[in-house]
Amino acid sequence: MPSHRSEFHVPPDPSGRYAEAAYFAGNSLGLQPRVIRERLHSELDDWARLGVEGHTEGTRPWVSYHELLREPAARLVGALPREVVVMNSLTVNLHLMMISFYRPTAERHAIVIEDSAFPSDSYAVRSQAAFHGYDPDEAVIRLRPRDGEAALRTEDIAEFLGTHGDRVALVLLGAVNYYSGEFLDIPAVTAAGRAAGAVVGWDLAHAAGNVPLRLHDWDVDWAAWCSYKYLNSGPGSLAGAFVHERHLADRSLPKLAGWWSTDPATRFRMDPVVTPVDSADSWQLSNPPILSMAAVLASLEMFDAVGLDALRDRSIRLTGYLETLLDQLCAGREVELLTPRDPQRRGAQLSVRIGGLRASEVSQWLRAEHGVFADARNPDVIRLAPAPMYNTFHDCWRAATALASVMDDHG
Ligand SMILES: *Cc1c(COP(=O)(O)O)cnc(C)c1O
Repeated sequence: MPSHRSEFHVPPDPSGRYAEAAYFAGNSLGLQPRVIRERLHSELDDWARLGVEGHTEGTRPWVSYHELLREPAARLVGALPREVVVMNSLTVNLHLMMISFYRPTAERHAIVIEDSAFPSDSYAVRSQAAFHGYDPDEAVIRLRPRDGEAALRTEDIAEFLGTHGDRVALVLLGAVNYYSGEFLDIPAVTAAGRAAGAVVGWDLAHAAGNVPLRLHDWDVDWAAWCSYKYLNSGPGSLAGAFVHERHLADRSLPKLAGWWSTDPATRFRMDPVVTPVDSADSWQLSNPPILSMAAVLASLEMFDAVGLDALRDRSIRLTGYLETLLDQLCAGREVELLTPRDPQRRGAQLSVRIGGLRASEVSQWLRAEHGVFADARNPDVIRLAPAPMYNTFHDCWRAATALASVMDDHG
């Protein structure tokens, strides 16, 4: 697979060294695909031309717009089409999923997350525990790597669940950890959690569009992801959710409802009671923002055109190349790789701990002096994400040489 860089707007290089930046922040906000502007304009034109009739007469009628995203979203995460829906934003979807799948009892009310969980996920699970009347400090269990290690081990997670699983109601882990870049063994951890009697949900914020997923076959209970990181759908754009087929017809699950939860065939009868549908669509509440959906659809079409396997293949080569360059060009400096070295245990991100300098300053110098966009996690971690859609091998060389120079010039 060649780079699809020309299909994206790449910011100019603020250092003036090159025309374009070397953009390694696609794990925070993916670059803008050029096609999105025209797709948004098409919806704006329909709105201008048709007003309310755009719901039914538009080029892509808005009333059923979300259905256009079902199949490409299902391919992206390895799901059946009726197991996925694009809606809301990620933290909202985590909560909607927990309303249905966090069913605590006095004996079994713990939620297991990773200690380095993204803060939003930590806040979300703590608030869910409190909402059900439990003390979050007691109910939320945070898994830590072994002393001296930066990543969790699958066998340690499985052992924990085997030993303490009888009090765990929900396991919610980041499939690719936002901080360390570790890609967990989803099928093994899911099997261990389910064997312990817990429900297993996954946050795919850093996994969707990054690594191939088989959520259905891996027997995952539920998952949620955002679309503005590797999926390049724009700041704050719509998120996704997956619910395994085995739960879709379960009428005993608690669920919040709105008019978009009901069977579309009856929606405009304006009945007072929801007519259930046996698909992930029934977790929807509101009619969706079409402008965001147009961006997500355009982006999903790009992933379909390239294919996740080809993307992963390029990703492994790019990230491996960056790793080799960091090892060689930053040798002798205080640069320590936190991300697992096994390509199967990581996605398109390398997190490095740097000695002696503050991460936010390093990222400013990288950008201003070398045109390299990287993400800082203070005090001392820099995250570099070579996104296979648009990053090049030359970008990797720029990042590694820039990091070495910054450490020499400012160290
Ligand atoms: C990016 C990210 C979020 C962001 O949540 P929003 O609801 O989209 O603001 C949440 N969780 C994880 C793990 C993330 O990486």
